[in-house]
Amino acid sequence: MGKLQADLLVQQAAELVCVSGFSQQPAKGIDLSNAGIIPGGSLAVKAGKIVLVGTHEEVLEQIELTSDAEVIDARGRTVIPGLVDPHTHLVYAGSREHELTWKLEGVSYLEILERGGGILNTVSATRSASRQELLNQARVRADAMLSLGTTTIEAKSGYGLSTAHELLSLEVLADLASVHPIEIVPTFMGAHAFPTEYKENRAEYVELLCREMLPAVAAQGIAHYCDVFCEQGVFDVPSSRQILQCATKLGLKGKIHADELAASGGSRLAAELKLTSADHLLEIDEAGMEGLAANNVMGVLLPATSFNLARNHYAPARKMLDKGMALALATDCNPGSSPTESMQLVITLACLYLKLRPTEAIVAATINSAHALGLAHKIGSLEKGKQADIVILDAPNHSYLPYHFGSNLVNRVIKQGKTVVRR
Ligand SMILES: [Zn+2]
Repeated sequence: MGKLQADLLVQQAAELVCVSGFSQQPAKGIDLSNAGIIPGGSLAVKAGKIVLVGTHEEVLEQIELTSDAEVIDARGRTVIPGLVDPHTHLVYAGSREHELTWKLEGVSYLEILERGGGILNTVSATRSASRQELLNQARVRADAMLSLGTTTIEAKSGYGLSTAHELLSLEVLADLASVHPIEIVPTFMGAHAFPTEYKENRAEYVELLCREMLPAVAAQGIAHYCDVFCEQGVFDVPSSRQILQCATKLGLKGKIHADELAASGGSRLAAELKLTSADHLLEIDEAGMEGLAANNVMGVLLPATSFNLARNHYAPARKMLDKGMALALATDCNPGSSPTESMQLVITLACLYLKLRPTEAIVAATINSAHALGLAHKIGSLEKGKQADIVILDAPNHSYLPYHFGSNLVNRVIKQGKTVVRR
């Protein structure tokens, strides 16, 4: 048999964290601890795809390097799949650091919203910004994500809240995706809040979403998912159901912000509609967990949001795993409750506060996050045939990643076989 051609060889990693075996079905329950680590492992790439993974000897034996091949020595370093962030609110204008003081004074999230702050503050800044300004700001955040080892993200609209402004946000995401190495899965989230002009007539805004906004988004083909903020004071369960059913009819898949502030029925709705993911889930009950597990709905946990809300209250991740749920991790990058781009920080917080083990957090932030975006067939693990999205960390082993927090451990980021960040 002829040897495999390779134009990139990453060799002799202290640990090669492959996260293999979960491309068809996400890792659930105790399976999350199986990160498929090869000590001293190497991997070979050809034309942006992984062609071989194994021990250094196995890989050397079976490959032939092309004349222009690059060889990266990963000795002393840990190699992981590119991190996947399946929940970000990337497109918005401005920032809300003034709310930090309010928060420290004990003003609640919903109170801030009622004061016209919170999301609505960002909505007016976003509506006033030009397409170029929105693109520039989103690009800065995407740059930060990539430099921190995130190679694929989901990104939501949801600070426009009118047909024109929501479409503009999604167009900005398409613009960004065409010029940036980071891969972007766009989500329409017109149901993020009720805009001020519909404050007294919420039913009419739900109608607008279903009759005008969703059909316009679907006609342009600029979103893969539709997401709804299902919560007390925002979209109730019947409205959320109506919006998500309407989206499904138009060919969009569903996601939901569920049971974040109260057990408001979001996780039950996610199970009923068999959505791709239910996100947040701080207040989910046992029946909710069982429903998500039985209906293969990914639980996307956002510990940086809990951390930043400073209430010392986190999603019951261990109970969810005991119930057989699949869990993914995301930043929730947004200007209010989680102004961070760092999946490295999220992995640390997932270990410290969700009580995930380092292997579980890495599996959740790679292959399971890829499942939360319907992309596990091509990203999320270091396996033959997968896209060569690879992160090399200045870390002697995988546990060092959650352990050494607050600095960027990335040494190199490779997207589709090309080095896009080198530090
Ligand atoms: Zn969110």
